[in-house]
Amino acid sequence: MAPQFVSDLHLDPGRPAATACFLRFLAGPARDGDQLFILGDLFEAWLGDDAADDHATAVMAALRDYAASGRTVGFLRGNRDFLVGPGFAAATGATLLADEALATVAGRRALLMHGDTLCTDDAAYQRYRAVVHRPAVRRAFLALPAALRRQLARSLRSRSQAANASKPAAIMDVSPAAVDAAMDRHGVGLLIHGHTHRPAIHRPAGAGNPGTRVVLGAWHEAGSVLRFAGTEPELVALPFA
Ligand code: MN
Repeated sequence: MAPQFVSDLHLDPGRPAATACFLRFLAGPARDGDQLFILGDLFEAWLGDDAADDHATAVMAALRDYAASGRTVGFLRGNRDFLVGPGFAAATGATLLADEALATVAGRRALLMHGDTLCTDDAAYQRYRAVVHRPAVRRAFLALPAALRRQLARSLRSRSQAANASKPAAIMDVSPAAVDAAMDRHGVGLLIHGHTHRPAIHRPAGAGNPGTRVVLGAWHEAGSVLRFAGTEPELVALPFA
């Protein structure tokens, strides 16, 4: 069976229904196949592998259980959990993927991304991203005591929420030019990403190289999983209750 994909779960101790849904998924439907890809923002926040709380530890244990059943988990970092590192991989058995990863999906070469790097019209976000991804900045942040990291992350999040509230909706979506460029760069006809919380299967009509772009859904009111029926992508909702 083709791999299954999730992203943007934004798991957090404050949203136990989403976490319970993901744990049910890992123990059940995720095992219909032997490959699961998590394309970023599994967690609402990740402050370093050494700062995992009880909630994160329970999620990691469930992933480890899934991987220990002989299945594979590919983890691509999102903007919320870009600090996931080798400690997380060792604890879960997941393989950490590059920001642009290639996989064979239902017989096709597919490009997997979180999606934030495709939102190139949001110049302020891209500037912020470039700074926090600098190795020196990352090292300095991870060297702080966990409590201080938590405080800093909270204030960054509320600033980002305030900034996003005043941004036009189009800026927060992917740029079509960035999508085309990424698909051309890797020579793929299928792109799977999340981040924008606008789940859809885009199949532009027309000659040339239209390509398919699947946008995964956020786990807000229900879970959202991309599965394949043969070669056909389908987004499946998982009820929280
Ligand atoms: Mn995101």
